[in-house]
Amino acid sequence: MYSTFASTTDADALEESPFLFDQAQDDLMSISGPHESPHLKPQAYNTVPMSGLNHFSYGQYNESTPSSIHLGDTCDLSDSISSGYVNGYERSYAPSPLHYPHTLRSSLLNGYSTKTSSNGDGKAGTDNPGLYNTNSLKFSDTIPVMHSSKEATASDNATASSPGVLSYDSKPSSTPELSHSKESLNPQQRSNSSPIKGKPSEFRANSSIPTALSWEEFARQTILAAESSRLNPFALHPEEYKLLREHVTHAQVTVYLNIRNAILRLWTRNPLVYVTLGEAVGCAREKRYFGLAQVAYQWLLRNGYINFGCVDIPNPTAAIPRRTKGGHQKTVIVIGAGMSGLGCARQLEGLLAQLGDHWVNEGGKAPKVIVLEARPRVGGRVYSHPLRNQNNSTIPEGHRCTAEMGAQIVTGFDHGNPLNALIRGQLGIPYHGLRDNTILYDHNGTIVERSHDTLVEKLYNDILERASVYRNKPATFRTVEGDRNLILFGRDPSDTGGASISTLENSNTPLPANANTTASTTEEKPSSGVEKLAGRAYQLTAGFNPNTTAAEAAIAMGWQLKPGASPNQTLELDKMAKSVDYPTLGETMDYGIKQYQEFIDLKPRDLRLLNWHHANLEYANAASVNQLSLSGWDQDIGNEFEGEHTQIIGGYQQVPRGLWQCPKKLDVRFKTVVKSIQYNTNEHYNGKSVKVECTNGEIFEADQVVLTTPLGVLKSGSINFHPPLPDWKQAVIERMGFGVLNKVILVYEEAFWEKDRDMFGLLNEAEHRESLDTKDYSLNRGHFYLFWNTIKTSGRPMLVALMAGDAAHYAEASSDDCLVKEVTGRLKQMFSPKSVPLPSETIITRWRKDPYARGSYSYVGPKTQVGDYDVMARPHGPLYFAGEATCGTHPATVHGAYLSGLRAAAEVIESLVGPLKIPNPLVEKKVKLEHPSQSNVPEARKMEPDPTQPSSRNALQLRDEDYEASIIGAILNEIGERPVKPGRAGINPFLLYTKDYWYICKQDCDEARRKDTGDPNAKASKTEIRSALGLMWRMASLEVKKPYLDQTQNARDDAAANAASFKERLASWDREAARIRQEYIRNNPPPGGNEDVILNSRTAIEMGAGKRLRRI
Ligand SMILES: Cc1cc2nc3c(=O)[nH]c(=O)nc-3n(C[C@H](O)[C@H](O)[C@H](O)COP(=O)(O)OP(=O)(O)OC[C@H]3O[C@@H](n4cnc5c(N)ncnc54)[C@H](O)[C@@H]3O)c2cc1C
Repeated sequence: MYSTFASTTDADALEESPFLFDQAQDDLMSISGPHESPHLKPQAYNTVPMSGLNHFSYGQYNESTPSSIHLGDTCDLSDSISSGYVNGYERSYAPSPLHYPHTLRSSLLNGYSTKTSSNGDGKAGTDNPGLYNTNSLKFSDTIPVMHSSKEATASDNATASSPGVLSYDSKPSSTPELSHSKESLNPQQRSNSSPIKGKPSEFRANSSIPTALSWEEFARQTILAAESSRLNPFALHPEEYKLLREHVTHAQVTVYLNIRNAILRLWTRNPLVYVTLGEAVGCAREKRYFGLAQVAYQWLLRNGYINFGCVDIPNPTAAIPRRTKGGHQKTVIVIGAGMSGLGCARQLEGLLAQLGDHWVNEGGKAPKVIVLEARPRVGGRVYSHPLRNQNNSTIPEGHRCTAEMGAQIVTGFDHGNPLNALIRGQLGIPYHGLRDNTILYDHNGTIVERSHDTLVEKLYNDILERASVYRNKPATFRTVEGDRNLILFGRDPSDTGGASISTLENSNTPLPANANTTASTTEEKPSSGVEKLAGRAYQLTAGFNPNTTAAEAAIAMGWQLKPGASPNQTLELDKMAKSVDYPTLGETMDYGIKQYQEFIDLKPRDLRLLNWHHANLEYANAASVNQLSLSGWDQDIGNEFEGEHTQIIGGYQQVPRGLWQCPKKLDVRFKTVVKSIQYNTNEHYNGKSVKVECTNGEIFEADQVVLTTPLGVLKSGSINFHPPLPDWKQAVIERMGFGVLNKVILVYEEAFWEKDRDMFGLLNEAEHRESLDTKDYSLNRGHFYLFWNTIKTSGRPMLVALMAGDAAHYAEASSDDCLVKEVTGRLKQMFSPKSVPLPSETIITRWRKDPYARGSYSYVGPKTQVGDYDVMARPHGPLYFAGEATCGTHPATVHGAYLSGLRAAAEVIESLVGPLKIPNPLVEKKVKLEHPSQSNVPEARKMEPDPTQPSSRNALQLRDEDYEASIIGAILNEIGERPVKPGRAGINPFLLYTKDYWYICKQDCDEARRKDTGDPNAKASKTEIRSALGLMWRMASLEVKKPYLDQTQNARDDAAANAASFKERLASWDREAARIRQEYIRNNPPPGGNEDVILNSRTAIEMGAGKRLRRI
């Protein structure tokens, strides 16, 4: 029993009929719930025809059967309704009735009812005039037929003054941009042919390198693109290294990296449009590097660095009539429609579309992908539960008022979050940036002064840092770096000959002279920064010195030592950390707190504050700190993204819905609970290797299965494997931690708290009042320890109270009534003398009881071993594994789940089509008399003399440059890269408008094209769509434009604020760099004796040519 409404939680209790789903959805939207507290005035909605919707009726509320998030699942039938949209978008279009961006799209993404009426042919009409107008705008007469490509072409300049064409902005932005009109490029004809194919005779070197950009600026953009894709711009990914080491020389690595980064630049600038092979090859500067470009393209494609997410990729093989040999078509089954499962299935669909020829050439058909999902909705642990009362919403029209039962925070979009492309680049979902303006209320309702809060926080961080010396060493990977200087200046080396990397590595030959930049090397993870989902990030202080005694550190923080205490006193954690087999973070830190108490006078309030920070870690890890491995709890350290944390307006679930529906629906079978998997690991087995049996009696046969069920489900053993999973897999499932975090969601009619504060914290009393023993706080510290104010994203006055650590388990075992009474009492104390009413709606999650989750997310438990996340991910025969618990770099997150889906898709594709093939030779011999870098450079590009080429340098210069390089090294080592100038706001109103209307407009343009050509499969080119959009924008009323103009203004304001802080950081960096330079020269005088020149010079790095590098 896990649910208030036990009868409704049984998936079987729901009728399968789509009619009922439609009916249910109509009812869902027509319900206007009472405002009274459900706990006071039970009120049944007898009109709801299905038991599955009873949860809307709090009249069914029953103390003895606590509610669970699973309840919500049964209501959210919107996902199961066949919308009948083609490519997820209704065919007719009218812009004017839409009052806010994304409305049309949002209606699909947020599951809002549009009262679709399927007419059986897959095309549904809509009868919701409030949202749609059936008058269709036609553009066909005005659309000039032009080429289209990832980058706009020169011909776009003709309309440069119109708002339909984006103004040129050379600064890359974290929000991917549409094409830039002033970049003159070779047109790439887009047709419905496979994007990954192309005639080599049509490829042109340099065609994807805009002539209007200087090499430095171009390099800057490519470097940022690589960083935004979680790749080191200056080194091969370990997998690239393995792939290339036998085929390339060290110098060719630089060429490869330049090409690879340039391809990423194409993708990150506009992830609405896929990158074609032709465009990718156009990133090579010389024809002989086309092979390198093809490998880079294929590698990025297969591994989900480009062309991923909701991008419409033509599938030319789909139209070919099925002529499968012996009727054999492979089937890939993905179990679970959470972020990992949908991410994997969407990626497989995209890759299969691009690789379809592999099967068609053999007379077959590309494999099909089926997703089996236990619930009646997509999203899994991303679930935005619709509120009973949708009236008086404060969020934009078209968005549903929802409460986040699971994931809620996007932890920064910048520097590598794949959700950036999905949320901002492709789906255009609005979000709200969170401000770190938490205030803390003490247990009696008084507000903790900021200065005291900071003082205790510093102490907490100090102990955390001292405990971090027991951290496992991060794994190192073998790789090869390119020539950093050349890459920074956008140059290829002139001479790329020599022995291959593997030959050099296997011989005793010394590595090339420039060993710093081309030698094989290892990469290490950085050692600072801890990502937290909560309001506060624990940033380990740069320069933390473990040799400083704890007492000295305490004095430096502002604490006073107890009378008689000595500054030499320090913490001795070894006893706790080394004396037990499985030391935990919590026990070790508590031991540290106890030792601090010997020389500083900690009061009960300090203990409450310290334990609040424990609770915050317990939120981030979904487990008590006493269950976290001391050496591995933060094994993902260093992989954090950047940028503000945000919440999705109208519900995070729009993201998985988008993945499911855009550009066209995936084949998801809802309410299909897998109960057993029979599999055969014999590679030569001549039939379907896997048989999946479901509780509804259905049996699916497949060649490969990707299992994305949560770790909790695997631990529970609710899925039977025949034969059982091997010991290594079963053992890791047992070793890994899977914790629980719960939420008490409270909806009110009026906010009684500060509406502009995104969150506030609450300190809890110990079990024994005013205790000075930190252990006495563990049970209570997570009780409502943090309240999110989600009024800006949920549309209604709503507080989300978190139950972390032991409190999460308490929530599972307590009744709704008890929890609501308890939290109301706490809120009354906090907001006294204001009156705090009972909430009008409450939703309480109980993730541990959810049979399809069995908990919230994974954590590193004391017995978890280094590398266990990778072992979780490792395939076994035809079984592949994805899900957040298989993503060691970003576990327990939505983006981690998504990345794991991309990884699993790559593995499945490799098993289907084999590993990437490397052309032989990969790099053709240099043709004599051909000028190295300029043979294909269009006239327009101004090539400055290359200062990095040995030919243009004399020996003296070389020596000085080497010396200069060591100074740069010293500077970088000490203070890192020079701060990068923040990009401009990077958005303009038309860009935002384009994101919303692209697919809508595309539908219309496609339709017009079909009419014009009589070809039922004809599609409009990207340029046609762009022009049509320009026209629409010009014709749009001010009312339609306003939200876009407003958003742009807001972004500009933010950018201005960032620019101000940048100036300060820059000045401080410059000062430090000058100091380090002087010190270096003093300590290591230059060989030639020209100190003065060197002393007064500044390198390119110091002048800002180098970019901030995220150390990967
Ligand atoms: C309370 C809470 C708060 C969170 N907060 C954040 C946050 O703020 N930010 C963040 O990034 N992440 C957060 N997370 C984590 C994030 O939600 C997850 O990491 C991510 O959604 C997991 O995705 P997944 O695809 O791995 O698993 P899931 O989303 O769980 O998907 C697995 C799917 O498998 C299905 N399934 C299970 N068993 C079966 C079966 N037998 N047959 C068929 N299907 C089955 C499930 O129904 C589910 O749809 C939070 C999670 C929770 C619970």
